[in-house]
Amino acid sequence: MSQKARILLIYTGGTIGMSKDFETGALKAFNFNKLLQKIPELKQLDCAIETYSFEDPIDSSNMNPEQWYNIAAVIEDNYTSFDGFVVLHGSDTMSYSASALSFMLENLAKPVVFTGSQLPIGDLRTDAKENLITAIQIASLLEDGRPVISEVCLYFEYKLYRGNRTTKINAEHFRAFTSPNYPELVESGVHLKLNPVLFLPLVVNAVFKVHKKMDTNVAIIKMFPGMSETVLSAILSIKNLKGIVLETYGSGNAPTEDWFLTLMRKAILNGLHIINVTQCSGGSVNMGQYETSTVLKEIGVISGKDITTEAAITKLMYLLGHDIAPKDFKAVFETSLRGEISL
Ligand code: ASP
Repeated sequence: MSQKARILLIYTGGTIGMSKDFETGALKAFNFNKLLQKIPELKQLDCAIETYSFEDPIDSSNMNPEQWYNIAAVIEDNYTSFDGFVVLHGSDTMSYSASALSFMLENLAKPVVFTGSQLPIGDLRTDAKENLITAIQIASLLEDGRPVISEVCLYFEYKLYRGNRTTKINAEHFRAFTSPNYPELVESGVHLKLNPVLFLPLVVNAVFKVHKKMDTNVAIIKMFPGMSETVLSAILSIKNLKGIVLETYGSGNAPTEDWFLTLMRKAILNGLHIINVTQCSGGSVNMGQYETSTVLKEIGVISGKDITTEAAITKLMYLLGHDIAPKDFKAVFETSLRGEISL
């Protein structure tokens, strides 16, 4: 008889477990046990589920690296006892957390599936049940006793995505996420349609390692026509700033004005790492394709290629948390560590 998969359900907060405050009418997180009572269907699943709840469940707008360490630590402490992990998380910053965890969990050989919902679990029209039940089913998939999926993913509205490829695109629709530059790993219909060629290969014979150091001396700068020298120079002169994600236009283009390029060049010479990502929701940075990105390439701006901003900023925090020699930083950033970037 095949063994039932053992799943740890980790509750961090988010709409899925929220209810309306009687006085203000605003949604706030409630107790996890109440959440489980609302989904008796969980008992019908063909897996053994155990639960772990954050002591103070949060709206994911309050998510931060310390909470990421907490999620990572729960997974680390329970790694050998479970076949898969499902993380209930608010949708607002879920893509950041899924990206961060993908970097923090090295040599992951089990699924970590983030999910949540747009409507609370107690709501009549909730999307929470389908998201939660299918996320657990996917995390439970075993083949010859081994997990079928062994990466950090995000499940929402009938699709399983690689977590570090996702971005939240809608605050209203149940289809709240997309993965602009990488196809979905699994599609849920009458059957679960798996696309195994897209999965990260299962890591064998490598020790699972949890990295807890994330350096937050970083910033995201979104370019806009009319950005002034004063604003950019103020940001670049922030004390201890070590890296920025620069959201540029199209395929990585930016102004060719002298003041802009001088500030960029000076910042890089002073040791700042500048990652070029596109503001477009799909496609890739390709410095040198236009004159407006040629100098960026020459002065040593790092290409984020088709990485999302969420993955870029968390990868930056992760790599800065490791003592990578400055001369190697660009090459390391431009490689794919967890399938977050197309090469
Ligand atoms: N504000 C909520 C959160 O991110 C939204 C959600 O869960 O969907 O925690």
